[in-house]
Amino acid sequence: MPGTELFGADERKEINDVLETGILFRYGHDALRNGHWKAKEFEAEVRKQINAPFAHAVSSGSTAVITALAASGIGAGDEVIVPPFTFIATIEAVLFVGAIPIFAELDETLCLSADGIKKAITPKTKGVCLVHMCGGMGDMDPIMEVIKEHNLILVDDAGQAFGASYKGKAVGLFGTAGAFSFDFFKIATAGEGGIFVTKDEEVYKRADAYSDHGHNHEGNNRGMENHPILGFNYRIGELNAAVGLAQTRRVPQVLAANRKHKAALTAALQSVEGISFSRLADPDGDSATFLNLMMPNATLAQALVDEMNKEAVTGFNYWYTNMYHFINQWDHLKEMRTTSKLNVQLLGASQDYKALELPKSQEVIGRLISFGIRCTWTDEEVQQLATKIRNCAQKVLAGK
Ligand SMILES: *Cc1c(COP(=O)(O)O)cnc(C)c1O
Repeated sequence: MPGTELFGADERKEINDVLETGILFRYGHDALRNGHWKAKEFEAEVRKQINAPFAHAVSSGSTAVITALAASGIGAGDEVIVPPFTFIATIEAVLFVGAIPIFAELDETLCLSADGIKKAITPKTKGVCLVHMCGGMGDMDPIMEVIKEHNLILVDDAGQAFGASYKGKAVGLFGTAGAFSFDFFKIATAGEGGIFVTKDEEVYKRADAYSDHGHNHEGNNRGMENHPILGFNYRIGELNAAVGLAQTRRVPQVLAANRKHKAALTAALQSVEGISFSRLADPDGDSATFLNLMMPNATLAQALVDEMNKEAVTGFNYWYTNMYHFINQWDHLKEMRTTSKLNVQLLGASQDYKALELPKSQEVIGRLISFGIRCTWTDEEVQQLATKIRNCAQKVLAGK
C-alpha cells in the first residue's frame, strides 16, 4: 500500500493550504481561495505523469469508472464484456449505468485476453471494460485488434494500475476513456478519490458535465451555467484533491522502489522449481505494486497459503477465496440481491451468472498468490520475506 506508507509533511502542507482558506469546493470562489485549486493541480499532475490529454478528478475510482462508461456512450441494455477477476466496483459500475455485464475469460496476464473477449462477443455487445489487474497490464496489441475488428467501445478500468504502461503508453489511455482509483489501498491515495482520463476532448467535456449535474463550467456564476446534459454529483472535494496531489507527486519515487523490491523478490524465488509468475504483457511497464506468484495448481496454492499463515507470513492475497475480487464469492450478483430493481433484472442477462463456466480463469486465479510490495521496505526486509516464502513453498512443493 505504497501511498499510505508515505503520508507526511507534503500532504499536510497541501491540506493546510485548503484549511487556511476554507474553500473546500473545487469550483469558483476565486477571490477567496488564495490561488489554491487542488483538484485542478491534481488533474494537471496526473496528465503530466502519464501524458494524458485530458484528466478529470472525481470522488472515487468507482465513480470514475461509471463516468468513463457513461461518457463513452454505454448505457441501458448495452452488453459490456467484463473480467471475472477485478474489484467488484467494475461490475457494479456496469450495472449502475444500466448496462449488462457479460463475463469473459482472462489469461496469465490476470486480465481479459483477446481470445476471451472475442469468444464473448454477441450482436448486443457494445463495449469492453478491461481491467488492468495487480499492477500489471492487459496484452493491448491483440486486444485492440479485436476491439477495432468488432467496432467495440473500450473503457480501461485502470483502477489499480496508475503508473503501469504498455509499450510506452499509460494504461487508461487505450480506450475511449479510462479510470484510476486513489482510494486508501492504491499506489497513491487521496483518502477517497478517482481520476477519469481520455484522449478525446468531446468525451472529456461529457465527463466533466456528467460528474457535476451537467454543469458546463463556463462563466463565473455557477447558478447560471448551462447544463448540456443531465448528470449527477461525483465531485471530488478540495481536501481529498490536496492529498491526491501530494501523493501523485510521489509516484515516480514509489515506482522505482517497488520495481527494485519486486526484482529482488523475483530473483530470489524464480529458481524454486514449481514457482512461476503472472505474465507481464510489457515487463518494462509494470507498476510493481504486487509480486504475482503462480503455483502449479489451486491445491498447492491453498497449501502454500496455509503454510504461510502457519509461519506468520503476512502481506499476501489469495484472490481465489477473496470476497470482493473473484466471481466465485459473488453470490450477491448471482442471486441479484439488490436494494431496488436494476436494468439487468428488467431486461435479463443473456448469460446465466449462476451457471458460468470460465475454466481458464478458475485455473489461473486458483494458482495465484499476490504479495503487496511496500516501497518502504529495506533490502534486508525484502530478503527476509523472500527466504520465508521460499521455505514455505519448498516445503509445500516437496510434499505434493
Ligand atoms: C480500487 C478499484 C476500483 C474502485 O476504486 P474506489 O476508489 O475504491 O472506488 C475500481 N476498479 C478497480 C480495478 C480497482 O482496483
